[in-house]
Amino acid sequence: MSPKTAVAPAPVASIPSATYSIALAGNPNSGKTTLFNLLTGLNQKVGNYPGVTVDRKSGRLLLEGEASARLLDLPGTYSIYPRSNDEQVVLDVLLNRSSADYPDVVVAVADMSNLERSLLLVSQILDLGLPLVLVLNMADMAKKRGITVDTEQLSRQLGGIPVVVMNARNGQGLQELKQVLSRELQPAATPFYQVLPLAPEAIAEARQYFGCKTYYEAYLLLQHAENLHTMSPLERDQLEALGKLSKLDRPALQITETKARYARIQEVLSTVVQLPDTSSRQSVSARIDAVVTHKIGGYLLFFGVLFLMFQAIFAWATVPMDLIDSLFARLGSLLEGLLPEGVLSRLLIEGVLPGIGGIVIFVPQIALLFMLIALLEESGYMARVVFLMDKLMRKVGLNGRSVVPLISGLACAVPAIMATRGIDHWKDRLITIFVTPFMSCSARLPVYTILIALVVPDERIWGFINLQGIALMGMYLLGFVAAIGSALLMKFIIRAKKGGFLIMELPAYRWPRWGNVLYMVLEKSKVFVFEAGKIILAVSIILWVLASYGPGDRMARAEEAYRTAHADTPELEDELASLRLEHSYAGLLGKTIEPAIAPLGYDWKIGIALFTSFAAREVFVGTMATLYSVGSAADDESTIKSRLQAETNPDTGGPRFTLAVAFSLLVFYAFAMQCTSTVAVVYRETGGWKWPLIQTAYMTGLAYVSALLVYQLLS
Ligand code: GDP
Ligand code: MG
Repeated sequence: MSPKTAVAPAPVASIPSATYSIALAGNPNSGKTTLFNLLTGLNQKVGNYPGVTVDRKSGRLLLEGEASARLLDLPGTYSIYPRSNDEQVVLDVLLNRSSADYPDVVVAVADMSNLERSLLLVSQILDLGLPLVLVLNMADMAKKRGITVDTEQLSRQLGGIPVVVMNARNGQGLQELKQVLSRELQPAATPFYQVLPLAPEAIAEARQYFGCKTYYEAYLLLQHAENLHTMSPLERDQLEALGKLSKLDRPALQITETKARYARIQEVLSTVVQLPDTSSRQSVSARIDAVVTHKIGGYLLFFGVLFLMFQAIFAWATVPMDLIDSLFARLGSLLEGLLPEGVLSRLLIEGVLPGIGGIVIFVPQIALLFMLIALLEESGYMARVVFLMDKLMRKVGLNGRSVVPLISGLACAVPAIMATRGIDHWKDRLITIFVTPFMSCSARLPVYTILIALVVPDERIWGFINLQGIALMGMYLLGFVAAIGSALLMKFIIRAKKGGFLIMELPAYRWPRWGNVLYMVLEKSKVFVFEAGKIILAVSIILWVLASYGPGDRMARAEEAYRTAHADTPELEDELASLRLEHSYAGLLGKTIEPAIAPLGYDWKIGIALFTSFAAREVFVGTMATLYSVGSAADDESTIKSRLQAETNPDTGGPRFTLAVAFSLLVFYAFAMQCTSTVAVVYRETGGWKWPLIQTAYMTGLAYVSALLVYQLLS
């Protein structure tokens, strides 16, 4: 008859009502969304949290009898110390009792086969004094690995909260969870961790002043005073003053707290969880870590991994890329034969088709890059890289939390800059925002690969090291060095205060889940094709018009003059075509800026590409493709690369794209701020035009000077 847990027996009338709200919290990938879908069925809405672009999923949950409740799927987080925008949302919801999202009950979803990682967050929510239910999800995985959990004992160790074993995929445990949620639930009887001794006066004072449920809630208010968007300035000042008075060292307290929690978690798990062959598994992971996070070996290994990645990008992607390239070339000549002669056909063949080709051709490389990044993330290695780089980052005025934005910057600076919101100190954050666009984003990849393929021979040293792969890796390193160097510069100019500590847990190594890898690859390729593709296509079409028409009868006159001058020689179609281009609107534009870029080794055609790339740098390749299709009479099956290769420099008679020109361009694209979306997001994140303008001027100035140096040194 006596209840197994400390929870009161279900009252006669169910407490949950239309306004009763339940929030799902847990680590990323613990199965929250799967459980959310299981609980709400089709009754769900997706929106945004106010002021941030984080998805907010809410729905209605039908409980026993007639009862129902609101259910909210919170973003995944590892602890209550947010490192990103998404994670900040969790804090904002759980620490703001006036929020409409503030839950009556929290359901913490944990991966049963990996409890150590899950329990930090669970223990923190528990100490907030909210009624809590723990779901041990992925019961099937735990079973497969031979892991068993004594749920009664675990519940006792967690202050008597209900613990439900589930498989959110097949619905096992669903009825029990609904039963539990239909009862009136109590907060844990005892805290998991006694926080008060960390700073007795400040915590006690804050608790009283803000009427907090627990000391831990008061402590978190003190910890996060600066970042709680939901607080009034007055309340924030109050907390700041309290913190100052008792000389709170927030990062140090965070470390103490986290360590103590992990110690207790270890203790609890040792009595609750039975692992099949713990000793060997633990030591394998520990042994890998000893190598991977080694003072010297760790960096060497990371370097080696990067090296392999860029080798692979060149070695594996060339086959599908060549295929796509020749496919588009053949499609062009096919259409040429099929379509009637006319403006529309020309637009299609010389403008639209090369534009689309210029987008699609890079899908193999982008897919490959993100497959490799996803593999590193999934296996648990990326977390070690962040850990490893933290020390290095600190030396240059960044902090460990800057690593995530910087690595995300390899994909795209826009989400990366948004991810800096988790950095507590404004100055640290500003420096991170400032330098992130130097990281080589996926839009630069097409520009890099085409230029490298033009001038770096496709040869191997010692039979296996691909030279082009080395050059590509060099470009990525160059971007990284520019980011670090600029951070250092800013550190001295802005005089950043000391930043926060990096607290992170190292997830266990595991085999990647292929579904997640595939998802990332598809998602990134899709974003590239549709987001970048839109701009590239639009620019290609506009460019075609500008390149095909000129002011007044300029083009016709130039053609006429040429014909009379060469009346006795057989007509040179190629030269005529390029003459026409020279006298078009685009040609005029390029000619206008030519004097400014001639010292960098560029002619007016490259000038046009440079100009159009200021909207988005990946436009470069499409622009070149369009320009050289218009500017050449070659209607055979020539590819973008062969067209660029065939282009000659009239002054020297040699190829236009010499080593010096190509490397000068590479450096220019590595450094210049050529992305309107990045400028826009920096404007939004820094709240004004000051920083985006300084950043654009700095990056573009650096690009110009460096490209000048490279060209002058190499030529
Ligand atoms: P979230 O990040 O917490 O929202 O996690 P998701 O709900 O997106 O789930 C992450 C992955 O785990 C998905 O591939 C799910 O299909 C899978 N998953 C969720 N619950 C279970 C479970 O109980 N067992 C197994 N084997 N997989 C699950
Ligand atoms: Mg989810």
